[in-house]
Amino acid sequence: MDIVTNALVLRSVDYRDSDCVLTLFTENMGILTATAWGCRNRNSVLAAGCQLLCWSEMVLTKQKNLDRYKVKSATSLRDFRGIRKDLEKLALGCYFAEVMTHMNPEGNREPDLLYLTLNCLHALDRMDRPLEQVKASFELRALCLSGFEPMLAGCSICGRKDPEKIRFHPREGHFCCAGCEPARPDSITLDNEVLTCLRYIAWCEPKRILYFPITGVPLRRLSQTVESFFLTQMQRGFRSLDYFHEVYLEEPPE
Ligand SMILES: [Zn+2]
Repeated sequence: MDIVTNALVLRSVDYRDSDCVLTLFTENMGILTATAWGCRNRNSVLAAGCQLLCWSEMVLTKQKNLDRYKVKSATSLRDFRGIRKDLEKLALGCYFAEVMTHMNPEGNREPDLLYLTLNCLHALDRMDRPLEQVKASFELRALCLSGFEPMLAGCSICGRKDPEKIRFHPREGHFCCAGCEPARPDSITLDNEVLTCLRYIAWCEPKRILYFPITGVPLRRLSQTVESFFLTQMQRGFRSLDYFHEVYLEEPPE
């Protein structure tokens, strides 16, 4: 039986002489594996729609006696060309894809995570946002959608909502005022501006996720804090993140 679904290509691995095995994040069935036969042949009608990080309308069919699907047709809806032409953006896009493959095991339908990924790819492609802002927004919101939302409403000791300086705890996922607790080796001291951004990313409307202004030193702090929180909660590293750090030239803070 044929299945028609929109899908984002998260991973593409060459297989035999001319085929590719794809990891797809589909709108209807979550993440699944599909083989695109002959898609590396010149003039293959599948090639354009099966490219890495391409958002395509696909017709899939289940292969007999296998868990895998076969791609019967693929029509590109958005190819995010601006990402593919820029090494830093491509590295970050591949990191988003690796995170999704890890967070969303096969068979779970997770439309919110899919739309978050598409929004962040759109931002890399078309919106002029700092890469660290897109990265931090993606990581924190992905955690929130997966049940790891940090407690950001107030100090975990006295309940105060807006202290000037806070100590954020990546392992516990909460913060307290700098006055309520001395610094611990594993806490990150932040000012109120970064706390406001963390709350914005965690609580805003999905489509508004990148609509907050931040640059310079506060952006660097936001980026480092969220990455630390993300990796602590995931309890693992990501090869694509290491690669992003290798190729990314940090903009000097103003
Ligand atoms: Zn407090």
